[in-house]
Amino acid sequence: MKVAILDGYVDEPSCLGVPPYVAPYPRYIYGMLRDLGVQAKYVTIDEFRKNPSIRRELEEFTLVIVIAGIAVPGKYLGGNPLSLKELRMILKNPNKVLVGPITLELGEREKKLLNYEVIEFPFERKLFEFLCRFLKREDRLKRLEVGGRNFVNRFAILGAEVVKQHPEFPHIICEIETYRGCYWRKCSFCIERIHGIPSMRDPNAVLDEIQALYNQGVRYFRLGNQTDFFTYMANFNYEFPKPNPEFMKNFHREIWRRCPKIRTLHLDNVNPKTIAEHPEESAEIIKTIVLYQTPGNIGAMGLESADERVVEKNTLCATPDEVMFAIELINRYGRFAGYNGLPYFLPGINFVIGLIGETKETFEKNYEFLMKLLEKGLLVRRINIRQVKVFKGTPMERIGYKNVERHKKYFKIFKEKVRRDIDNEMLRRIVPIGRKLTDLRCEVRKGKITFARQIATYPLLVGIIGEFERNTFLDARVVDYGRRSITAVPILNPNTAKLYQLEAIPGIGKATAGKIVANRPYRSLDDLRNVLGDAFDSVKDFFAI
Ligand code: SF4
Repeated sequence: MKVAILDGYVDEPSCLGVPPYVAPYPRYIYGMLRDLGVQAKYVTIDEFRKNPSIRRELEEFTLVIVIAGIAVPGKYLGGNPLSLKELRMILKNPNKVLVGPITLELGEREKKLLNYEVIEFPFERKLFEFLCRFLKREDRLKRLEVGGRNFVNRFAILGAEVVKQHPEFPHIICEIETYRGCYWRKCSFCIERIHGIPSMRDPNAVLDEIQALYNQGVRYFRLGNQTDFFTYMANFNYEFPKPNPEFMKNFHREIWRRCPKIRTLHLDNVNPKTIAEHPEESAEIIKTIVLYQTPGNIGAMGLESADERVVEKNTLCATPDEVMFAIELINRYGRFAGYNGLPYFLPGINFVIGLIGETKETFEKNYEFLMKLLEKGLLVRRINIRQVKVFKGTPMERIGYKNVERHKKYFKIFKEKVRRDIDNEMLRRIVPIGRKLTDLRCEVRKGKITFARQIATYPLLVGIIGEFERNTFLDARVVDYGRRSITAVPILNPNTAKLYQLEAIPGIGKATAGKIVANRPYRSLDDLRNVLGDAFDSVKDFFAI
């Protein structure tokens, strides 16, 4: 029997699956199918769109499982997620299943019209049950007896091999689930409530999964599939769970013992409330992250609004003061530059626009909060501003998109001011001119600029001066700033560098660039020193022979 998994990508508050990210879902589903004796084909939506032969091939399959759902929309360079509109048109197969957060957007009528077997989110148990019956393997239904999130453990390991079918392999970053659920579950807009109270995965199973992926060749990981990394295996006997620093240290040590050649180990999602409530334990965990994870790391935190009124009306978890405290504590240990050019560990903050009680003043308070960060000299690597997406069953349903519509103009102005006044200044502080960024993976070329990023959590977009093939890995030095991106010059060989690349180095004008070209060849950097004289010292780091 031929079964395919069509990955339309997901983006949820606590799970990302847009390339280069691979969400756990396709891996779990592949593992379920393997457990039931089926070797599935894995296809991404981008391959499906590009390649008509894949489309025709899939039409012959007995069953196609489609994963989709962008609950927190962003801008994606690595892939174009499957939309609801597109979903209605693709695939003529009689047997097709739809899973993922997209199912939260569908009304009953829509579900019927879609002509898919729609399996409600979260789907893992229901899908496994469906597959057991569809594939006539009812004997395996006993797997459903495994409690909580440990249900996925077996499938996570069996499904690791699917990564080799990913078109971007080995340049992928695997999102790893440590637990699902949230201890707060009250924020008016959030869909994480759907996962209920936190259900931890056994740390040994998480380690086995990381090792299984590593054995397949994966070198980039993000411990991103949980609502608050600091509370993984925390003590939940407190009103706000108390982190477990000893466990965290041992867990990280074990990752490195088993997988010594990992290139990226990052995290996602930190609840600032946890840090504010348990500063000592949190400080220990921050130190562990700085020591055992890789530089360029970001703990994305939900501020959502710096307006106390909005915080109260939407029962948001942390107050603006608590978020400020968490930002300060992470900065204390994480702000120093690591070997890849970026600070070890910085906070990121999320704003959600359109919440209950939002007024024009809310935007002013949000802006003041950010200005305070600059005044205090604090670093924040990512400021995410998005308009709320309203889901069924959340308190936001009460007002829907009323405030989004009403405050469209303020949203635009606020975003513009943040990009202009805050983001740009933060970038200048985080990666000063001349800073070397390593392991930049070239992705898209536009004229004489190649856009590249490190394979990392919320990677910084770097416009590299020069034309490079996709998947070339480069080191480059910062020369200029955009609003949320930077421009960099690759480390150049003076014998082969193009004139326009030389001219982009600060301190080298047209005339000096011409002089460098005219005096080729260079056998060593000393030859270049002889040509440039005193100017050499300020630009020498941009060159290598
Ligand atoms: S703290 Fe609030 S926003 Fe964060 S996961 Fe929980 S309910 Fe959602």
